[in-house]
Amino acid sequence: MAMDSQVIAPADAEERRRKPPVVVYPNGSLPGADMAMLARARRTLTKRDEIIVPPREAGSFRVPKGHFFRVVSIEGPQVGDLNLWNADDLDERFFSGKTRALHATHVGLGDRLWSNLPHLRPMATITHDTLGWYGFDQDGAGVHDVIGTRCDPYTHRLLGDGGDYHHCCHSNLARALGKARGLPAREVEHHVHDVLNVFMCTGFTRDTQQYFMKASPVRPGDFLEFFAEIDLLGAISACPGGDCGQTHSSDVAVCHPLKVEIYEADPAALAGWHSPTRSPYGRSHGEQG
Ligand SMILES: [Zn+2]
Repeated sequence: MAMDSQVIAPADAEERRRKPPVVVYPNGSLPGADMAMLARARRTLTKRDEIIVPPREAGSFRVPKGHFFRVVSIEGPQVGDLNLWNADDLDERFFSGKTRALHATHVGLGDRLWSNLPHLRPMATITHDTLGWYGFDQDGAGVHDVIGTRCDPYTHRLLGDGGDYHHCCHSNLARALGKARGLPAREVEHHVHDVLNVFMCTGFTRDTQQYFMKASPVRPGDFLEFFAEIDLLGAISACPGGDCGQTHSSDVAVCHPLKVEIYEADPAALAGWHSPTRSPYGRSHGEQG
């Protein structure tokens, strides 16, 4: 939001600016996961499956509820754009905006990935993050943001030279979802949604509050681990921006593959855990009958 020099500030402008910030959704009021139980469960993991996602492509994977999955950096720094759906109902999907409002601009240990309205339940809980040391740096940047949307060929057209680029994350995710469902990408692309930017390092510029990216601090061996709260279909794109330190939506940046690993925990370690139910709100929205 640019300041308008033609508008005169009122006499009490500074007083108005000094009002204290109030956290919209205080963390203590949010139903949290049983992190002690999940910490015990993750010590019992057995790997059941894995996929390799080639650079500038996406891959899909399924995670049964009660299992864990990891997005793993291999070969070199690489950002991954993650989508999650209810495996039995594509209309229920990850809600980046509400997750940002409930937690923060960037997510980490203990944060949950929430589903869209009218479902609004945790789809996954973050149980380990080897980049948990990063925090917010001197530029105000952090990792794993829920700010960005995903690179896409439409915005590329809008801002670019009019040419098409077919390996943006949006297209990669559409092709991967289409392959999983046996449909052309164009018939499923409306299910592709705003992502969790795994490993991406982003923030807002201090002076103009513009969204910026910088080279990801991720290195091979790093991973972000989730507990699947419901049966999940996931897709992740190895962004054509590579470590997103320079550019995206082109074949210019150096890119690396990503790995997704699926793990099963000892069921005994999850004793007492129940998959969360959808929101109980009745959906009358105040209308009668
Ligand atoms: Zn991308």
